[in-house]
Amino acid sequence: MSMIPLCDPTSCVAAGCTATVCVGKGIANNHALYTRSAEAIPGGVNSSIRAFKSVGGEPYIVARGEGAHIFDVEGKRYIDLVQSYGAVILGHAHRAITSALVAAASDGTSFGAPTPREMKLAEAIRERVPSCERVRLMNSGTEATSTAVRLARGATGRKKIITFHGNFHGATDALLAAGGSGVATLGIPGTAGVPEEAVANTIVVPYNVVPEIGNDVAAVIVEPVAANMGVVAPAAGFLEGLRAACDKAGALLIFDEVISGFRLGLGGAQAKYDVRPDITCFGKVIGGGLPIGAIGGSRSVMEHLTPIGKVFHAGTLAGNPLATAAGLAALNELTPDVYMELSARARQLATILRDACASAGIVAQFPVVGTLVGAFFGNDIPTNFDEAKLTNEKMYATFFHAMLREGVAMAPGAYEALFVGVGHDDAVMQQLGEAAHRAAASAVRAQ
Ligand SMILES: *Cc1c(COP(=O)(O)O)cnc(C)c1O
Repeated sequence: MSMIPLCDPTSCVAAGCTATVCVGKGIANNHALYTRSAEAIPGGVNSSIRAFKSVGGEPYIVARGEGAHIFDVEGKRYIDLVQSYGAVILGHAHRAITSALVAAASDGTSFGAPTPREMKLAEAIRERVPSCERVRLMNSGTEATSTAVRLARGATGRKKIITFHGNFHGATDALLAAGGSGVATLGIPGTAGVPEEAVANTIVVPYNVVPEIGNDVAAVIVEPVAANMGVVAPAAGFLEGLRAACDKAGALLIFDEVISGFRLGLGGAQAKYDVRPDITCFGKVIGGGLPIGAIGGSRSVMEHLTPIGKVFHAGTLAGNPLATAAGLAALNELTPDVYMELSARARQLATILRDACASAGIVAQFPVVGTLVGAFFGNDIPTNFDEAKLTNEKMYATFFHAMLREGVAMAPGAYEALFVGVGHDDAVMQQLGEAAHRAAASAVRAQ
């Protein structure tokens, strides 16, 4: 299975290799490539969490992926539970995606004019998510949340935004008042570079409690299933309560379904919990592993966007032919049966990890919400960010490295979800179980 050729950038170049993908002329080395990357890219990464800062050590450099597996440049194979932080759901290099991309690429990669593929993806989202009568495509989840906030402010003529502690909405200034994911991992409130003014109208409240909503509030933005502080399910009545409170205050309800959209099921969290938001943010799965974002909502709200309304949105690569081709190919594969299987796999993953930790005497919980699995190294499954922060981050880091040595890649941060995809079959899960038991035993010894 391990057929990745070895590659060292220095010797490859010296040997005269001009291939952009390794063709096996040199000697591979994660450390050498990471060090070289850091000379060109701050910290050697293009998304901060990838640098392993919160778990220690240095990242593996991925040469390629196939199904449930990734291969680093040294030829080591890992069972991948990162799956591009949930963007990849069919497994790596799935044939449906690859062939859709080849076809789209040979038609040209971007035009600056409308194309049939973007229309089809928007239609596919609209068909599956009834609250999305209109869909606008863009390039990232971050762009989706920032556009959703602008749209809500423009549509209501109000300024204030309510967000929830431990929810993560991407690198959007107004939404970086305090957050989960990388921000929580680094333990800093917000981030440098965001002036107070940028978050002056952002109110951060605890997750799973319906807040007071004043009639100066434009929108409440929420992860309907929180998946950036581990995985935290919405409490019974929470989402319905938000809907009712928003209606009463005349505020819009924004569901950030960048992770949960097309991950929990065809209709996302809003179908699972039967609560209809005014605006939905998408990303990740709808791009089939390519850069994408989208917002959807009722016709009346969405038509506040330019060119019909007055809320500006534009993007050179928005509705990109390759991203929409890959996204459409992914959505076409995602039948209800696939979600049934993914849910079963998610439960199986949680059981495997629970058993492995229990048999080694590690205190850990692995909450499952649909197809999403969280890892919490503590006693009680968290219901909000304060509880999520009680996780034993040191234990996570120790377990993470033990798993990595055993050939299982989890996200290098204690607050990320674990992802299974279509590629995680019986054989993979069997290997994962054996690896997890060995890893848990060695993590205990390493303490
Ligand atoms: C990943 C994520 C984002 C940001 O999406 P990007 O494509 O990384 O910009 C926003 N919201 C949630 C809930 C996410 O998980």
